Amino acid sequence: MKVAAHVAALVLLASAGAGPVQAQSPPAVAPPSRLTRLVPAEAVEGQAAKQFDQLKQAAARKGALVAPGDPRLRRLRTISQRIIPQALQFNARARQWQWEVVLIDSKEINAFCMPGGKIAFYTGILERLRLDENEIAAVMGHEIAHALQEHARERIAKSQLTQLGASLLGELLGGGRYSDLFSVGGNLLTLRFSRDDESEADIVGLELSARAGFDPRAGVSLWRKMSAASAGGPPQWLSTHPSGKNRIAEMQKHLPRVMPIYRQASGRG
Ligand SMILES: [Zn+2]
Repeated sequence: MKVAAHVAALVLLASAGAGPVQAQSPPAVAPPSRLTRLVPAEAVEGQAAKQFDQLKQAAARKGALVAPGDPRLRRLRTISQRIIPQALQFNARARQWQWEVVLIDSKEINAFCMPGGKIAFYTGILERLRLDENEIAAVMGHEIAHALQEHARERIAKSQLTQLGASLLGELLGGGRYSDLFSVGGNLLTLRFSRDDESEADIVGLELSARAGFDPRAGVSLWRKMSAASAGGPPQWLSTHPSGKNRIAEMQKHLPRVMPIYRQASGRG
């Protein structure tokens, strides 16, 4: 479903531009598991909004919630305003999301986008990795891609099913009437994505930043910086985003597809 909508969006994109970009093949990402549907998206997004508010309140109490006028936060929001319009084409729900971007004063190398478009960056990732604008866009695109592909919802559905067992699974798949059995428990902030989720977020993230006119090659330099930072103990970010050793090579493989998109988008801008 999602892939078909995406193909349509790309065809539109290709026919709208008069530039040299021919119809791009869509990124090779699998549709979400059917099991994902067993957990309502609204429940996951509602839970995420609650946890995001708690995070902001906890940061504010410590004086660590960066003020809206801060130039670092303004920069993040400017970047998000270029990426979000591109993101809307990947998931119809994203149009209704109450997107938010906050910056938390912390040495942690961390950033995330929770379900429903709740984005947080820690000053540690910006400053310790000395991220430039394109690298910030690469992080943000990757994080937003997790939210668009509903990876958190998929993780929750899978873990709930593991607990429920096979007999109930049969009933669920037969009728889907028991979805209210599922509560969205657990901390979305510490949810660990799978390697497959990571590759998918890398691929969709590259596409998002390219369409927003950010250089997708920054995805590769970002990863080099992240790996270098792991020498003194893995960054917080890596504990929730497990890295395969071929990650950089995988991204490089996708660059020839997204570079023309970037060139056209940045030329337009
Ligand atoms: Zn990730």
